[in-house]
Amino acid sequence: MTEQGVAHVELPPSLVGRTVLPYDARYERVRHGYVHRGAPAVVIFPESPEEVAVALTYARARGTVLSVRSGGHGISGRSTNDGGVVVDVSRLDGVEVLDRARRRVRVGAGARWGRVARALAPYGLAVSSGDTGDVGVGGLVTAGGMGWFARRDGLTIDHVTAVELVLADGTFVRADADHEPDLFWAVRGAGGNFGIVTAVELEASQTGDVVFANLVLDARDAAPLVEQWGAVLEAAPRELTSFLTLMPAGPGRPAIAHVAAVYAGDQPDAAQRALTPLLGLGPPLQQEAVLAPYPALVPVGGAAHHGQGLGATRSGLLDRVSTHTARSVAGALASGEVLMEQFRSVGGAVNDVDPAATAYAHRSQNFQLLSATVPELERALDIHWAQLAPEVNGMYLSFDSRRSPEVLAEAFPGPTLARLRTLKARYDPENVFDRNFPLR
Ligand SMILES: Cc1cc2nc3c(=O)[nH]c(=O)nc-3n(C[C@H](O)[C@H](O)[C@H](O)COP(=O)(O)OP(=O)(O)OC[C@H]3O[C@@H](n4cnc5c(N)ncnc54)[C@H](O)[C@@H]3O)c2cc1C
Repeated sequence: MTEQGVAHVELPPSLVGRTVLPYDARYERVRHGYVHRGAPAVVIFPESPEEVAVALTYARARGTVLSVRSGGHGISGRSTNDGGVVVDVSRLDGVEVLDRARRRVRVGAGARWGRVARALAPYGLAVSSGDTGDVGVGGLVTAGGMGWFARRDGLTIDHVTAVELVLADGTFVRADADHEPDLFWAVRGAGGNFGIVTAVELEASQTGDVVFANLVLDARDAAPLVEQWGAVLEAAPRELTSFLTLMPAGPGRPAIAHVAAVYAGDQPDAAQRALTPLLGLGPPLQQEAVLAPYPALVPVGGAAHHGQGLGATRSGLLDRVSTHTARSVAGALASGEVLMEQFRSVGGAVNDVDPAATAYAHRSQNFQLLSATVPELERALDIHWAQLAPEVNGMYLSFDSRRSPEVLAEAFPGPTLARLRTLKARYDPENVFDRNFPLR
């Protein structure tokens, strides 16, 4: 060991040429995540599952903190660190159609969802993931995946048919409904705890053009707008999924609400019927609706991360958007201390799935709320969040930055958490994967 407690371990020959170190010119581009800043001692870019296993063994031998990274957009998951090792699987980014007739596709954990969308579109296929093309496959597909077709198709994990991963002891495993079924269950909701996913297979949806609407509304009177948006979504056909983002007043402009809505179909009349109720939510500042191919909804950016996201976030699932919730959100916005409130509609096909089928067990709620601010204002966020407590029914771990162990009970209901802990003891007894809602 050196005096810092880091064991001196020679880099294995197969990883030579796969690392970026702090003195390297590429280091600035790879050290941070989208939300979290970091200064790792080494970032390793394995190019095969075998190299992932070697990297993992090397990281464990060094005895320092280990982070696993795919797209770097983790909010709960810390995919960078200070002084430790980052195993970055972004070079495992293949996208392949295995069987067009059965819509079976295989995706590397390091691919970004925007690239997945572009690769599948020529086949008339799509996988609903989220609203951001730069989010990585590995982080999202191990937690849930609330995307633009959530109400029609369910969560991303609901379409996963097999997962390949390297376990804490370096073993490579393929888990599906018939092989390692417990692990297959656990990875779909709490995957960051169980290994390094290298690839997943999914059943994609047949998807052509869809209708994509964007409305920017004056949100000076936010409470009725928010409550009405919730009521519209609850009554909407499953083809409609919408995200509502609210931001406080800024220089020269009032508080605004951005309603993004997707009608997952190309029939203009049906789309118009579904979208029209959203038009009356508040005074419009801007509005448009276009018929677009799915990849246009999740463009690929590819910019380097520098910890630019809002670092203090809370996630809560809601059965409905009550008057109390709407007023609390409006009050937080007016305070200027909560800098973003974002609702996602779920329900629909998400709730067709048996809560016991995946480690993500929340199958009755209709909405996900994310409240966010800068870390310096976290106290105000906590006060706001305490007001919402009676309404919150569980949470989605991908959107919460809290690290206190009791938050686990919100992410995983009692029986789910008990089963996960038993499996954690079996698959990762030494708690190697401890950077994303660690179960132990
Ligand atoms: C701008 C933005 C928009 C978002 N929009 C949505 C959305 O619309 N819907 C939605 O559901 N979520 C959304 N999210 C949340 C997102 O799904 C999670 O933050 C997810 O973890 C990001 O995946 P990543 O691979 O980019 O993350 P990374 O930062 O690379 O990883 C985060 C954590 O995931 C785990 N992980 C990553 N890769 C692997 C792997 N290969 N094997 C095992 N574990 C792994 C690790 O614990 C890691 O710490 C959004 C996040 C951001 C920042």
